[in-house]
Amino acid sequence: MINEIFSLDKRSLERKVLNYDLVVVGGGMAGVCCAITAARQGIKVALIQDRPVLGGNASSEVRLWMLGATSHMGNNNRWSREGGVIDEILVENTYRNKEGNPVLFDMVLVDKVLAEKNIDLYLNTIAYTIEKSSDKVISKVFAFNPQNQTEYVFCSDLFADCSGDGLVSYLSGASYRIGAEDKEEYNELFAPDKNEYGELLGHSIFFYMKDTGKPVDYVAPDFALKDIEEMIPKMMNPEYFSVNQHGCKYWWLEYGGRIDTIHDTEVIKYELWKVVYGVWDYIKNSGKYPEAANFTLEWVGVIPGKRESRRFKGHYMLTQQDVIEQRNHYDSVAYGGWSIDLHPADGVYSSKSGCNQWHSKGVYPIPYRTYVSYDIDNLFIGGRLISASHVAFGSSRVMCTTAHGGQAIGMAAAFCIKENKNPAYYIDNEKIKIIQRELIATGQYIPQLELNDFGGLATKAAISVSSELQLKKLKPSGTYFAITYPVGMLLPLQSGTVPTVKAVINVKESTTLQVQLRTSQKKFNFTPDSIVLEKSYALSKGHQELAINFDDLTIESGYYFLCFMKNESIEIAESDNLITGVMPVYNYQNPAVSNFGAQLPTEDIGVDSFEFWCPKRRPIAKNLALTFEPAIEGFDSENLRTEIFRPVVNSNAWIADFNDENPTLRIEWDKKEQISEIALFFDTDADHAMENVQMGHYDSSMPFCVKEYKIFDDEGNTLYHTTSNHQTINKISFSEGVTTKAIVIELQHPSDLTPASLFGVNIA
Ligand SMILES: Cc1cc2nc3c(=O)[nH]c(=O)nc-3n(C[C@H](O)[C@H](O)[C@H](O)COP(=O)(O)OP(=O)(O)OC[C@H]3O[C@@H](n4cnc5c(N)ncnc54)[C@H](O)[C@@H]3O)c2cc1C
Repeated sequence: MINEIFSLDKRSLERKVLNYDLVVVGGGMAGVCCAITAARQGIKVALIQDRPVLGGNASSEVRLWMLGATSHMGNNNRWSREGGVIDEILVENTYRNKEGNPVLFDMVLVDKVLAEKNIDLYLNTIAYTIEKSSDKVISKVFAFNPQNQTEYVFCSDLFADCSGDGLVSYLSGASYRIGAEDKEEYNELFAPDKNEYGELLGHSIFFYMKDTGKPVDYVAPDFALKDIEEMIPKMMNPEYFSVNQHGCKYWWLEYGGRIDTIHDTEVIKYELWKVVYGVWDYIKNSGKYPEAANFTLEWVGVIPGKRESRRFKGHYMLTQQDVIEQRNHYDSVAYGGWSIDLHPADGVYSSKSGCNQWHSKGVYPIPYRTYVSYDIDNLFIGGRLISASHVAFGSSRVMCTTAHGGQAIGMAAAFCIKENKNPAYYIDNEKIKIIQRELIATGQYIPQLELNDFGGLATKAAISVSSELQLKKLKPSGTYFAITYPVGMLLPLQSGTVPTVKAVINVKESTTLQVQLRTSQKKFNFTPDSIVLEKSYALSKGHQELAINFDDLTIESGYYFLCFMKNESIEIAESDNLITGVMPVYNYQNPAVSNFGAQLPTEDIGVDSFEFWCPKRRPIAKNLALTFEPAIEGFDSENLRTEIFRPVVNSNAWIADFNDENPTLRIEWDKKEQISEIALFFDTDADHAMENVQMGHYDSSMPFCVKEYKIFDDEGNTLYHTTSNHQTINKISFSEGVTTKAIVIELQHPSDLTPASLFGVNIA
């Protein structure tokens, strides 16, 4: 028992002084992915998060779906889901929680962080001040946890500010901006008219509702907004409002773009509660929505999701041109691919379109310099506060992009600690390569980056395989796609002549079908902006086979779109076969991401005009049932030597033949090698946007992914066997080490419809 007597002295809080290699402030997706990446490199990390759960705007407190380059699969960024830790998290969440329950997602994150012995997680712990050891060096971050009444002093040589509003960077004195740059400053033609459009994006609060099965009355709080139709014009617009929607669909309940999005946050919160409870009152009590009689409010956000505030100065400012022109940088370490997405400052009360989104033709690299504080020597800046102009921020702010950047910071921090350097040391053409290389080894995709020597043992070894896919046929499933809008097949073709393609079609009445072979002007893109050949076929009524012959046309290797243009008289046979690196795309609309079939800016705002050819989601998405003569090749084992673990220019995968009953890969050296780890890179469909909440997904594990495989040594001893893989990267560690002259990996096909594939093997 404790029975303390009255003390004349003021009591003090319990205080803990702690030392870490890296202190990460902010447990949003940037902070989480930064901390995990750094910890896996062996450095000791403190992850400080002021709220009870991780995820920031992706947590169950705000309930935003994480997005990034895949852009709800509504633009031309194929196979662009961000790699590394963020991919692992999304794949795991889809496996455990394909329905997108936000509460379960919280625990996916907590589970991932708790699994790292090098991370100490401090939830409910708010960083509130800092100490510097010199003008340009932070030495301590002070934080307080009201739940355990403990004050913490985090001492470190390195800090990563992933706190959204940038508290640590701000207190350290670092240069920052709030608001929009003038058009002239960086020659950004999309820079907004500040009076018309404002300078900042506002906050939002969402609600969830549920059908209780019996009538539920609702009495609104007195503060709830009245005159909804007059005050919120978008409630009258079916593009924005339908009575059955909730959560992220109300992204446009936005407020605060004309006030101080940091110091007025509480003002903004009350305004947004006023809006939310007023909107619900309108739904329940206006008499217009009898279908809402049984609905009740299940949850309303109590913390506003913040979009924009401070952006800090790094060694490079990302601008509109970097995004739109997909500019390459010697020090690229991450990428973006969401549209440049700016909103009217009056938010929910505006009669303007809720967002103004312009896409680039593909993903764009983000340089390391945007993550390194210009002013403070031992500070990384991560998440939405990175060094980007207001316009570029319109794209770089989304959470898979911030997470990917967080991973780059985590990796760089580990090198800083191990080599006793400051972050700016790696701003160098040569020195950055060590970080890029290690990032790639952990699954980070860095567009346009060429590294020739991956460095693993597998590259030195002889590789042989039991079979290699010769893609002759995608078998008909019995279903047909009516070409009411154009459909294309995205195919990796080898240099030389183009195979003859045969399709099975139903022609309802005599017609002429246009077929185009297209490719991308930039080889690494998937925007079909270059028509290589156009053919037309006069077809008579009936079920028939159409042979498409490309005559003497010769091509360079790369991705090509075989496009069947809109023809309402024709339907084309589909296939249930799924092949790594082969997929259908459709020239159709996805208004959720401002895809109206084509991007056609009406004035010169510095963005491109082009068509959107995008996928559909399973189970609707199906390949077309085509035969190829000669077969499409290029799915060979040499692809295992590259360091690109997703389709770009080439499938980059070894794919076994459908008929190979025991797909086997043998990696052999001249002499016995000592092995401690094998990493395998599987296909978890980087094209699938794995939104973490609300949306739900058809598959819990991706149908391309090898579930069962065995690994043997040179004497046939089983080193590893699993029957339940669903992850992209499998790292198998041998604590005692293995001495062997060969590694043999036997894969099982994921299903009868999908041949086994592998993007890479790294053996250390
Ligand atoms: C309504 C809305 C819609 C959006 N739409 C999308 C979308 O659909 N998809 C998408 O990907 N992005 C979307 N965004 C953008 C995205 O959510 C943000 O840009 C993103 O969350 C930024 O990530 P972050 O890690 O920098 O910040 P956050 O997600 O805000 O994470 C920062 C974390 O730091 C913590 N923190 C702050 N201060 C401290 C402190 N002093 N001490 C300790 N911890 C601290 C916070 O609690 C928070 O958890 C939207 C944003 C809003 C508000």
